[in-house]
Amino acid sequence: MISKQTIDEILSVAKIEEVVGEFVQLKRRGQNWVGLCPFHNDRTPSMYVSPRLGIYKCFVCDAGGDSVRFLMEHEKMSYPEALRHIAAKYGIPIVEDEKQTPEESAEQRERDSLFALNEYAANYFVNQLFDTEEGRDIGLSYFKERGFKDTTIRKFRLGYNPSGWNQFTTEAMKQGYSGEALQQAGLARKSDKSGKLYDFYHDRVIFPIHNKSGKIVGFGGRVLQKDAKGMKYVNTPDNLIYHKRENLYGFYFAKNAIKKEDNVFLVEGYTDVLSMHEAGVENVVAASGTALPDEQIKLISLYTKNITLVNDGDKAGINASLKDIGNLLTKGLNVKVVLLPDGEDPDSFAKKCRDSELQAYLHDNATDFITFKIKVLSEDAGNDPMKRASLVSSVIQDIAALPDPIVQAFYIKKCAELFELSEEMLNVQLRKQVWKKLNKPTTPEEAQNVEAVNVVEPQSVSPQPKVDDDDTLQVAEEKLLALLVQFGMYEINVQSTADENATQGTVMRIDQYVYDEFETEEITLQNPLNRAVYEEYAELAQTALSQEQIIRHFISHPDEAVRNMFVRLLMQDAPTYSERWKALDIVIRDVNNSQRRLQEEVANCVNRYKLYRLDQYIHMLQDELKEEHPDEVVSQIVVKYQKLIARRSEIAQMLGQVVLK
Ligand SMILES: [Zn+2]
Repeated sequence: MISKQTIDEILSVAKIEEVVGEFVQLKRRGQNWVGLCPFHNDRTPSMYVSPRLGIYKCFVCDAGGDSVRFLMEHEKMSYPEALRHIAAKYGIPIVEDEKQTPEESAEQRERDSLFALNEYAANYFVNQLFDTEEGRDIGLSYFKERGFKDTTIRKFRLGYNPSGWNQFTTEAMKQGYSGEALQQAGLARKSDKSGKLYDFYHDRVIFPIHNKSGKIVGFGGRVLQKDAKGMKYVNTPDNLIYHKRENLYGFYFAKNAIKKEDNVFLVEGYTDVLSMHEAGVENVVAASGTALPDEQIKLISLYTKNITLVNDGDKAGINASLKDIGNLLTKGLNVKVVLLPDGEDPDSFAKKCRDSELQAYLHDNATDFITFKIKVLSEDAGNDPMKRASLVSSVIQDIAALPDPIVQAFYIKKCAELFELSEEMLNVQLRKQVWKKLNKPTTPEEAQNVEAVNVVEPQSVSPQPKVDDDDTLQVAEEKLLALLVQFGMYEINVQSTADENATQGTVMRIDQYVYDEFETEEITLQNPLNRAVYEEYAELAQTALSQEQIIRHFISHPDEAVRNMFVRLLMQDAPTYSERWKALDIVIRDVNNSQRRLQEEVANCVNRYKLYRLDQYIHMLQDELKEEHPDEVVSQIVVKYQKLIARRSEIAQMLGQVVLK
């Protein structure tokens, strides 16, 4: 462990333009430096490096962070490796620190020894595959029969565990690994009868499972004899370093391609992944069989929001795709589906394809989930009106679950085309679904969540699109957050609205002011990522951390999406703004602004945001009122509506103008 002091020294001495400049040619542009981004296929310089903030940021692929992050991403260094690299560059001596508790260091040692054992086992299995007669005759010839090249076999470190019952276990124990560790790693098991240890993977070819930073955390073993008893595939059971729900096979080898292509292909088996790699498609991972767990979806969505399910064209393949779709959609992923020609799986099909043919097929045959679902289920429903109605309603439910109103509008349009129904009618259905959800929650916390996710503008596809407003709302949220992270700790003088005669206001910090305003208004940010940053910021701001420490915290945040968002907020003076927003521009860039201006601008920013949210809600209630409801419901809506209108005019007055109609 590098001591905290040393880390602080390293971070304060590191010059971002010099660290990045080792790998990327940078040119000065104003206060910043720019260069070609190494994280995507960049043609014009999209990467900005800010010496003032100590960070880099690409405005195309969203890569960004501090010096340490750059080395971790670009050079695939671990966190301590990156620190040591910078320390060496600037000649800073490293002071080590033993600050872990005994339990922590015991667990760390245990994890380290599991990694070491897995590494030893992987090498053993590779040697068995290539360097023993049995391995070559059985294991290697199996892989060759399947058509895998040596380079692929070596890259994925495929191996072979020999047929003797305890050949590996005996050898490993000779090397000093304990029976206990072998069992814990899932490499050996104890026989119920004899009480002796035997190889868990004996007689199997081995597929090592890498975690996302490339360390081997477990293994999958496939039996080769056709008449063998037991499971065709066995896997490492969950342990200290391996959690089945969190790992996707092939992710480590796919992650760069996933980022670059901004899409991931999801297949079923190990060999599907290998064959697609050989056919030139590297952004591919395999799930563990059943429906995708939330942890795996989260891992994927840190790298891309686009997922394409690749499945056999048979009934089982179709059902597998349908099962995953719902959950992926609610997590905000864009789902596409590719069905392969009859009788093919990704493995067999990739092998038949010549160079780039597979890519072309996947590209040409990917359909969005709505088209896919309607196509396959329409066949079942035929012309039966009841079945068709329930199909429509099931598709609308999927659409209602989408977190983004713009995407909802897009799919309603698509749905209308495919069903040959009017958009208007489908919108009515969609509103009903959303309304149902709005009224369902029981706890205030739940209510807030649902409101944040599901308040939609169903009208956005009818004559006057309001897509721009949604865009502006997102911009408004980012503005507000940018203001917080850049100026949150500045103090302003707040005039209380309740006491108009007061001559002196209260001095308070900007972040406190924003926080209070939102709390009294019961507003929370709408975009889940924005909300996450806002809430975490609010929590940190209540501690004694300085603004710089908070910035440091976010820049090295473990959640990549949060990290990228934060860096974008810090660099809001770079060119990401639409012309339209510029016209309304209110946020402060110039740190030397007078306090008075800052004060006005903060209040304006908060109030504008409140107005956006109120308008959204008001529009929705207006739509609701156009529909038929029992009298009781109508009067409830009207009461709510009048309250909102009253509140709106109060805020508009404070702003001194009407911002939106
Ligand atoms: Zn980039």
